[in-house]
Amino acid sequence: MVSNSGDDQRLTVVIFGASGDLTRRKLAPALFHLYKTGALPKMCHFVGVARSEMDDESFRSALVEGAEEILAYDHEAWDEFAGKITYIRGSSTDDESLKRIDQAVSGYCSDGSTDNRIYYMALAPSLYTGTLQALGRCGMLEESSGYRRVVVEKPFGTNLKSAQALNEVVHSVLNESQVFRIDHYLGKETVQNLLVFRFANTIFEPLWNRNYVDHVQISVLESLDTEGRAGYYDGAGVLRDMMQSHLLQLLALVAMEPPATGGSDALRNEKAKVLQSVSKYETDSAAINSVRGQYVGYRDEEGVAESSSTATFGAIRLYVNNWRWQGVPFFVRSGKALAEKSSEISVQFRAPPHTIFDTHGAEVTPNLLQISIQPHEGVHLTFENKKPGTRMGTAPERLEYHFPAQVIRDSYERLLLDAVEGDQSLFTRSDEIEMSWQIIDPFVEAWQNSLKSQLYPYEKGTMGPETADEFLGENRVWYGHGSEL
Ligand code: NDP
Repeated sequence: MVSNSGDDQRLTVVIFGASGDLTRRKLAPALFHLYKTGALPKMCHFVGVARSEMDDESFRSALVEGAEEILAYDHEAWDEFAGKITYIRGSSTDDESLKRIDQAVSGYCSDGSTDNRIYYMALAPSLYTGTLQALGRCGMLEESSGYRRVVVEKPFGTNLKSAQALNEVVHSVLNESQVFRIDHYLGKETVQNLLVFRFANTIFEPLWNRNYVDHVQISVLESLDTEGRAGYYDGAGVLRDMMQSHLLQLLALVAMEPPATGGSDALRNEKAKVLQSVSKYETDSAAINSVRGQYVGYRDEEGVAESSSTATFGAIRLYVNNWRWQGVPFFVRSGKALAEKSSEISVQFRAPPHTIFDTHGAEVTPNLLQISIQPHEGVHLTFENKKPGTRMGTAPERLEYHFPAQVIRDSYERLLLDAVEGDQSLFTRSDEIEMSWQIIDPFVEAWQNSLKSQLYPYEKGTMGPETADEFLGENRVWYGHGSEL
């Protein structure tokens, strides 16, 4: 890890695609808060790059919108931060523009300070290759005068082949240690708590295996529909948009072995081993091990073909083929326009093998551990308790912990700071990305071409097609934050 805290260390964050939504809503507020709290090096600069006609002032004003919530109580700090923001009009794929940017950034370091740089690609994915190649051509990735790191947004490729091709371009101009493939889900407090929960406690780890776990559910549910972005979404669908990235990363964190150390390599090695062990289906098996749906009205949206078969809901069943998890299904589910917005991991333990209590023929409720990523970030553990009264009956009760709302910061803030500090733990390595596509590609293929895969319509505001309930198998139900005991 390169130190950036010395007095001679200067940092410049160059954002390509600076006139876009991500910069305004996420990156500018996150950088502002990091700056305000003194988390960034004292000497820092922020350079926005896009093709739109703007000057420094109009760019800063455009950013204020995104930072309004933070600004509400600190205009003075914003003004100081804004003084460090520059806008350079140009294209990220054009050598002449890049040379102007290079010159400006080098100029900040004319006092002999170290020229550390982070290039953030807040760009359409189609521009990643051209931008990386241009940065390489212009010598802007050479680490002679400080570090050069590149943050690449998701999606990283659209299938295994394109991800491999992009990784090849990445590795032709950068070392893997300079690349930060971001998946903002991993910056969420509760996702990191999963590591603490699993590896800083002893009581769960002995149970965390096929002997005690019936199945695992990983759900990322959205109540919003495509919100006018259907044109983009139609080319991606739920598999590419959500499952290949966020959901498989969550699965890897749930299923991995304890890493030897807290270092980024140890963590990413264990995640990669899980992804390597996950079932890679043939096309027809992928069809049988999945359910797909599309909300009614999707095809009427702008940019969507009348006959579009893009899935806005999906549930897939995966197996992690290793000693710990053999035979335990991992149900991974995501969808749009659903009845609730929630992200949750549910670990369903097995029912006791024998009951001595009067349950009127019903099984006692098996233990359930729910890790809620959003909303109400926290952990719930359901356990059986004696029903109060003279009879010896049982009833499920819940132990709950919730993070205090004020300590949850936006995940971009955490991840940007990690990039500044050179910590790649929460960024996805090239092999993880490629293995994720190896898992997802057969589902994409099956959903496009297998006669065994049917597209089920569902009404907006429901929990997706009913077939998804049957898909879980007997005695299993989907859990969500609204699920009652
Ligand atoms: P936008 O389309 O809103 O912004 C992209 C910006 O790139 C545009 O404003 C455009 O501005 C600029 N641009 C286009 N061509 C060039 C070029 N050659 N050189 C420099 N700038 C260029 O996209 P988003 O901000 O929504 O997303 C950016 C990336 O982040 C995408 O990969 C997306 O998938 C990812 N992402 C976004 C999220 C979000 O919440 N928005 C969440 C997760 C990921 P101009 O015309 O002025 O050049």
